[in-house]
Amino acid sequence: MITPATRHAVENLCQRNQAVILDFTTERLHIAAVEPLPQEIIAALRFAAHCAIDVEYWPPARLEQFRQEQGHPSSGHRTDITERNSETATERIDHLLYLAIEQRASDVHIEPQANDLRIRFRVDGVLQTVSPNGSDNGNALLARLKIMASLDIAERRMPQDGQFTLTLRGKQASFRLATLPTGFGEKAVVRLLQSETQSVALENLGMSLTSLRRFREALARPQGMILVTGPTGSGKTFTLYSGLSSLNEPGRNLCSVEDPIEIPLPGVNQTQTHPRNGLDFNRVLRALLRQDPDVIMVGEIRDSETAEIAIKAAQTGHLVLSTLHTNSTTETLTRMGQLGIPGYLLASALKLVIAQRLVRRLCPHCREPAEALAHFPRALWPGTVQNWRAVGCEHCYSGYYGRLALFELLPITAQLQNAIAAECSHEQLLALVHQQDFNSLFVEGLHCVNRGDTTLAELNRIVGTDDG
Ligand SMILES: [Zn+2]
Repeated sequence: MITPATRHAVENLCQRNQAVILDFTTERLHIAAVEPLPQEIIAALRFAAHCAIDVEYWPPARLEQFRQEQGHPSSGHRTDITERNSETATERIDHLLYLAIEQRASDVHIEPQANDLRIRFRVDGVLQTVSPNGSDNGNALLARLKIMASLDIAERRMPQDGQFTLTLRGKQASFRLATLPTGFGEKAVVRLLQSETQSVALENLGMSLTSLRRFREALARPQGMILVTGPTGSGKTFTLYSGLSSLNEPGRNLCSVEDPIEIPLPGVNQTQTHPRNGLDFNRVLRALLRQDPDVIMVGEIRDSETAEIAIKAAQTGHLVLSTLHTNSTTETLTRMGQLGIPGYLLASALKLVIAQRLVRRLCPHCREPAEALAHFPRALWPGTVQNWRAVGCEHCYSGYYGRLALFELLPITAQLQNAIAAECSHEQLLALVHQQDFNSLFVEGLHCVNRGDTTLAELNRIVGTDDG
């Protein structure tokens, strides 16, 4: 007979080592894990279970799917959890954040519900519910997170945000925490800013050769502005970091003003804004300009004042990289006008605009060819596009695994420069852009669909149905 204490000990060991129990009898414990378990863990399991141990190795996605299907893992017969709450919360948060990194999550949501706590991970842009732990205590988890991010634990009625860095099983990762009071208590969203696994090399962005060449040409200029645009979570900051790190050599002074510093780059002077202490983008940017910079990265242009200083810097011998929250490259041109930048200033400073999106990547193990599509305007796509079906298998989540970036690059040519200086309308600029050698996000996406990297449905979900 397996006692509750034995079961509890075995479950704990499995959970700590990313393993799941498939079957547990008095003769045999059958488990699945992603990586070979160290001998001492097997020995500990054998000691705890008093029986033979069989281990199967599964792909991470299959293991995660199994956990989800199991729903609430049988929580054994836990007693006296409350007196260990602080310790449990610390371990639980470390474990959750570790799992989040393992599963490539971008955000962790901890949400109090009417009767329990819901925990969800955003993976490849979609939220997935994580099997809750029977003993999860929302208040304790929130308190632990707040301590880590140096927030006020007693304050539960106002939203707060902060950052922290953690070493999880030897790997350093930084996180941003945002809390918000809701009807059932305080909820938290933890965003994974950077883990050591990401590489910021230009070649790894996934740009086409033409786009990469254009990006490099703009980066090689001694002065001017490069803008990357897209909605939140489209990877634009990552593109900026890749550009910045390609210029990172001892002969240049690179500085950045960011909110927050997402990836620490050795050799770059990164400054974080602290609006509460009066240290905002404008103030840091003004101070940076007195620091003899060559390249300046401005995390985001949010207001007229920042736009104005950034444009002036780009005209006075500095290369300025920044992001703007717009939907397309052409919309960026008009948006800068709305921020009060006169056309002639923008025309002389701006060198390149990049728009980008992230689409889910089809799982190569289970994708299936669908019918070829031929309803696109000839100017957009002559001939047919091979479409694909997302099926789903043990290697992926619902037919997709990971994401890939689509880029639309708009170099500011002499012709375009004249039109911007003359304050032409958005329609006139758009017409001019389409006369240039220009691949829109949608056409870039069609190439990816045709290659079998994503589906038309996914492209429509992220980019929209037309070429606007
Ligand atoms: Zn698959």
